[in-house]
Amino acid sequence: MLDTLHRIVKAVNAAPDLEHALAIIVTQVKKAVDADVCSVYLTDFERRDHVLKATEGLFQDAVDKVRLPYHRGLIGLVCERAEPVNLADAPSHSRYLFTHETGETQYKGFLGVPIIQNRKVLGVLVVRQIDKRTFADGEVTFLFTLAAQLAGAITHAQASGNLTTPNDLSPPKRFLRGQPGAPGVALGTAVVVYPPADLEAVPDKPAQYPEQEEEDFRTAVAAVVEDLMAIEDRFEESLPAEDRALFDAWLMMLGSDSLIGNTVRRIHEGNWASGALRETIEEHAKVFDAMEDIYLRERASDVRDLGRRILMHLQQKVSTPSDYPKTTILVGDEVSALQLAEVPHGYLTGVVSAHGASFSHVAILARAMEVPAVMGLSNMPVSRMEGRSLILDGYLGRVYVSPAPSVVQEYRRLADEDRELHQELEADRDLPCETTDGTRVPLYLNTGLISELNTLGIEESEGVGLYRTELPFMVRDSFPGESVQVTNYRKVLKTFHPRPVTIRTLDIGGDKPLPYFPVNESNPFLGWRGIRISLDHPEIFLTQVRAILRAAIGLNNLRLLLPMISHVQEVDDALMLIQRAHDELIEEGFEVTMPKIGVMIEVPAAVYQVEALARRIDFLSIGTNDLTQYLLAVDRNNAHVAEIYNDLHPAVLRALIQIVTSAKALQREVSVCGEMAGNPAAALLLLGMGVDSLSMNGGSLLRVKWVIRSVSCGRAKELLQAALRYERASEVKALLSNALEDMGLGGLMRAGR
Ligand code: PEP
Ligand code: MG
Repeated sequence: MLDTLHRIVKAVNAAPDLEHALAIIVTQVKKAVDADVCSVYLTDFERRDHVLKATEGLFQDAVDKVRLPYHRGLIGLVCERAEPVNLADAPSHSRYLFTHETGETQYKGFLGVPIIQNRKVLGVLVVRQIDKRTFADGEVTFLFTLAAQLAGAITHAQASGNLTTPNDLSPPKRFLRGQPGAPGVALGTAVVVYPPADLEAVPDKPAQYPEQEEEDFRTAVAAVVEDLMAIEDRFEESLPAEDRALFDAWLMMLGSDSLIGNTVRRIHEGNWASGALRETIEEHAKVFDAMEDIYLRERASDVRDLGRRILMHLQQKVSTPSDYPKTTILVGDEVSALQLAEVPHGYLTGVVSAHGASFSHVAILARAMEVPAVMGLSNMPVSRMEGRSLILDGYLGRVYVSPAPSVVQEYRRLADEDRELHQELEADRDLPCETTDGTRVPLYLNTGLISELNTLGIEESEGVGLYRTELPFMVRDSFPGESVQVTNYRKVLKTFHPRPVTIRTLDIGGDKPLPYFPVNESNPFLGWRGIRISLDHPEIFLTQVRAILRAAIGLNNLRLLLPMISHVQEVDDALMLIQRAHDELIEEGFEVTMPKIGVMIEVPAAVYQVEALARRIDFLSIGTNDLTQYLLAVDRNNAHVAEIYNDLHPAVLRALIQIVTSAKALQREVSVCGEMAGNPAAALLLLGMGVDSLSMNGGSLLRVKWVIRSVSCGRAKELLQAALRYERASEVKALLSNALEDMGLGGLMRAGR
């Protein structure tokens, strides 16, 4: 059963649209449980009924015609209960409803399971039997599992208005729903980005010069043939002839008309070589996938492997999309920081990522670049998005594909409003950031992820509160040496001099992997990350610290920050290494000075040991992104749980108060450098708590300044007290929205997050 389930799920996932997915389900399920009928009903929430969308066993004519009233019949019962209904003799049940239009006789055996997504019942998957039959537990769970798979496909199809073929440009009124990633609205053209040699991720694209595409494809195939022959030669001695026969099979496939001919045909039908290859390979692999024989089924992976090899050669020719449109909206399964950086300056208009959530580093980066972003559209058909016109609503987390003119008009108006708000904010640019009762709140800049590309916030900030050092490590193919790092850090220190610059030591791991330092863990956020890697590899840490200290010679505006601290021993060890780096440099004749040293409070353990940590260092910086993730046990990158990730959660607020209170008792300076600091509403609460400074991305500086200049410390404290009376993040958010509205700053709520 598990095997069959696996196969159906795979076929459903590969189906081009909902109609095909449903057809696969009803045919295969009927066969798998040996039922007389299998059907799917989907709920029409506007008309308040359930529509027959697919069937195997009933009249095909009834599909899309038969509608069952909302709360009547057994289908209605399954929906109401949101659990399976398994009846040996359905007609004897009080809710049984006979529908003659489907051509049904009085089927006795009945099993209906709800199709549920995000707690909402979307329809029912049902199997029927003429004779009396109670379906077995294994059959119930089988249907259950399939229904869960179907739910994703249904939500997506409903939202996208059925994206069927690359040329289907019928403008849907609906939208794909994701998570807000970076505020703002964007109108532009989709450019799909994907990891190299990932065949499944290759998008469809029009073939501009089919002859050229064909030639590239044939050259790539020839290169793979050559590679394989070379490998076969190497194995001539060591592999028995029967095993080497595998190579012959692969070479035969590479020469077959079904692979070459079908791909070439697809190219001439309009798809580019990589897209045509993906389609052909999938078609081939599916034939093997469907085979009962395990050995033959395994051949599907050989076909895919060959496909990847051909793709690799194709990509050597066309590695990245070179002609980005002026209003590029990057779309990808998992858009990376580097892919963002590759877009020519001024062309990037928006970012849409199927994976990740609003606290992923790509979203943070998008906010820093003031580019709207939507994250976590897990059901987005990425491969069919290339070249489509998109509207992206980064406030609400929506993406409209080939939008209707009325939607375009509405969004153009919103974009104009945004520009106006921006101008209002600009008016405060040169004014100090202080409350109405005269308390100064320095606003610092978070930078580093892409500092080379972004000048936003250099003028407006009072220095750098968080310089993330990961990017220079991520864009290379080996660890950067000391002198390369000195140049990098000196550039930031000089740019902001004499204003302070807080440089954080390497925080790789989690969602910031290094291509040349693979860390394969099932739980990367709970694994080898940040300071843990630095201390296990003192050579990496010492090189970095030496570079940072050297970069600051003669400038004296450096502060050093340690990430991911969860034990005091880590601080003691890091301090010892920093002292060693300092002493070595002095010995070598460099006139370095010891900077102020701080730790990030971003792990719950650190909250409860703030005093012990604070005694060892000079300042504290609260990383609310990770602190929220670890306090609420919600992965900051996981779109499925993004709705319960909330830094206004009362538990987070209480943790923050505890940190600030402890830091103050020891007269240690405390700032917040997580995304919360850049949210104008949340900044009110942080002000009420008495944090000394806030550090945020460049795009948030003027917004937060506007709020701080409009409020007194007393009012912020009152709001904090009021917030603490609530038990839900949603209530805290409503309180803050109302407060901003009362202050005449309602526009910021939309422009916030
Ligand atoms: C944080 O965790 O809040 C933080 C600022 O660090 P990062 O987002 O780089 O993990
Ligand atoms: Mg962090």
